[in-house]
Order: sequence, then C-alpha cells, then structure tokens
Amino acid sequence: MEPVYLDNAATSPLRKEALEAMMPYLTEEFGNPSSIHGASKGPRTAVREARDTIAKTLNADSSEIYFTSGGTESDNWALISTAQMLADKGKHIIVSAIEHHAILETADYLKKNGYEITRLPVDADGLISLEELEKAIRPDTILISIMTANNEIGTIEPIAKIGKLAHEHGVLFHTDAVQAYGHIPIDVKAMEIDMLSVSGHKFGGPKGIGFLYVRKGIRLPPFMHGGEQESGRRAGTTNVPGAVGMAKAAELAHAEMSDDIVKMTELRDHYIERVEKEIPYCKLNGHRTKRLPGNANFSFSFVEGESLLMSLGVNKVYISTGSACASGSLDPSHVLLAIGVPHEIAHGSVRVSLSEKTTLGQIDYAVDALKTAVERVRSLSPLYDDFIRKQKGA
Ligand code: PLP
Repeated sequence: MEPVYLDNAATSPLRKEALEAMMPYLTEEFGNPSSIHGASKGPRTAVREARDTIAKTLNADSSEIYFTSGGTESDNWALISTAQMLADKGKHIIVSAIEHHAILETADYLKKNGYEITRLPVDADGLISLEELEKAIRPDTILISIMTANNEIGTIEPIAKIGKLAHEHGVLFHTDAVQAYGHIPIDVKAMEIDMLSVSGHKFGGPKGIGFLYVRKGIRLPPFMHGGEQESGRRAGTTNVPGAVGMAKAAELAHAEMSDDIVKMTELRDHYIERVEKEIPYCKLNGHRTKRLPGNANFSFSFVEGESLLMSLGVNKVYISTGSACASGSLDPSHVLLAIGVPHEIAHGSVRVSLSEKTTLGQIDYAVDALKTAVERVRSLSPLYDDFIRKQKGA
C-alpha cells in the first residue's frame, strides 16, 4: 500500500499541470518581469495572466490581487497595515477566538503596540454569533477579521452576513480564506469582503506564494518596503513561477470545484459515519454540515493524539493533530478549547483532510488503521481500564 496522505490542510501536493506551467519560468523564461529588456516580456505577460486568472475565481478585478509569499504574510499585511492606516479613526480590532496563529499572533503584536483586540467567542460547532459580533462593534472599531473556514475543525463561517454587518457599521472586513479558497466558492462582491488572504500550497499550488485581495479604493499601505513591484504595494522581485503555478492550480480547482465538493463530501461523511459507528467514545469536532468538504476532526477519549499519529504512521497513514504550526507544542489546540472540548479530550484529537484525489479505498484503509490504533493506545491506558471496569460493574 502506498502511503495514505490525509493531511492536505497542512499542505497539498503540487498539481502536475501547475508544475508544467511553472517549468518555463524556472528555466528559459527566467527574466525579471520588472526589467525593461526583452527577457522580461514573457514573465511579465505570465504574471499579468496569472493575476487575471485569479481575479476571475473571486469575481474581483485584476488590480485588486497582490502577490505575497503566502497566507502568513497576507494576514500580517492586512492586519498591521489596516491598523496603521486607520489609527486616527480608532484602535479596536475584532477577530474570532479560533483564527489561525497568523492572525492571533499578529493581533497580539498590535495589542502590544497600543491596539485593543476583541477575541470573539464561538459556539460548540465553531460558529461565531452575528449578535455577539454586532455587540462587539464600537465607534473605534476599524477592522473585523474572521476566517472563511477553520483549519482544524473545518467550520465555515457566515462570511456574507459578516461582510454586510461590518459595512452597516462602517467597519472593514478581512477574511483569512487560506483553507477555503479553491475548495468552496467565494465571491468577494456578493460576500462584501474588503480583504482576503490566500496561500498557494493549500489547493495544489506551490509553496512560498499567496496573495492578498484588497478591494479597490482601500489605500492599504505597503507592508514590505523596497521596489515598486505590485503597484508599489508589495516590494520584492515577483515570484513568477510561483504566481503562474498558483494560478494554474486555482483555475483547475475552480473548474473542478462543484464535482470535487460532491465527491469529497461523500468521502468525508463516509469517514465520519464509520468512525462514529466503529470507534466508541469519540466526538466529531466542528459543524456537521457547515464544514469544509475535505475536513473531519474527531476527539477520542482516553488517547493522546500524538500516540495515535505514531501508530498510524507505522501503517503509512499520514494525518494530523490539528494545526501543523502548533504541533510540537504541548498546549491543547486553542480551537478545540474555544468550542468547549475539555483539556484532556482535546489532547486526543486528530484531523483528516482530503484532496480531490482521495479515494474510498484510502478512507477505508485509514479508518481500519485508526480503529486499530485507538484500540492499541487505549489498551495501554490505566484510565480506560478503570473506566471500562466501572462500566461493567455498573
Ligand atoms: N491561515 C490559515 C487558516 C491556515 O490554515 C494557514 C496554514 O496552515 C495559514 C493562515 C498560514 O499559511 P502559510 O503557512 O502558507 O503562510
């Protein structure tokens, strides 16, 4: 059996077509698009076309797409530059409690620099409340940043309603769409999104490239200073192969999206159904239906997520305990704690994230391996032993 890779939310394999599209710009068409000689022409055209392709996927204008190094940079830029731009209006920013660290740490950085941050709580499914959001808005609120879909539990937030509410109160709205873009439809106009962050490697594009959508009319100051690239808003030599590869992956992901959503939702629900039926004492994290087609996150009582991963790794099933960025830390996931999962159970949580290429055979193999792994880990747990003994005695 080939390895079963179910960690596509951490990173996805580069699509073959994206690599092919990139190759010329890694070899003979190597010119710098900002040069003024002949070698710049091909790369310049390729970057323009990549921007056009990406803009179409969001119902945006090409001039509203700014290439960055990825999701983290886009998130940092949106928050820090908005804070600078609107400091005279106010210093209050609202984020959700389950944002990625790229947002939460940036918000903390702003807090240390005199801004006030409200971390909006979420319900047991990971959804924000529009009423709570409205209550949190103040006259000095300058930005609301709420993710389109969560990276750990897959919950999809009511983005269009948040955009509308933000604008009714004259507040800008940024969304971290790193996990959602390329997987579910996004229309920046219909959803009233002012700024949106994307990372190329989450939907079959290359690593080290992403973009920030900035609605026309928002004079967002640059975050990277230097040359005049990206209309003077983001300095640094353009990552031509990256932009071309990301645009190709985006084009394919959007062309195939409606079929992929159906297929991946079926596979995800099959995984959820089997786990719930075959592995006792588990709990699905995140909203049952308002969730990314490829995400399933479960907590298992009486196990450590890391022990499960090790056991699964022996069978070449690659999944994750949550955010790749947080792994290595002993703290339980802030996302699971925010949805009310108790500490000890949060530690026993694992996420699978599918791709459009995932098969039923892979899912079944993964569930079989997970079942064995949970049984093995529990068989070594004195707590589980005690629990079962009490159950029997009762
Ligand atoms: N935002 C979310 C929701 C993510 O899941 C990630 C990465 O996992 C990021 C931001 C950061 O993206 P990158 O690591 O590509 O910069």
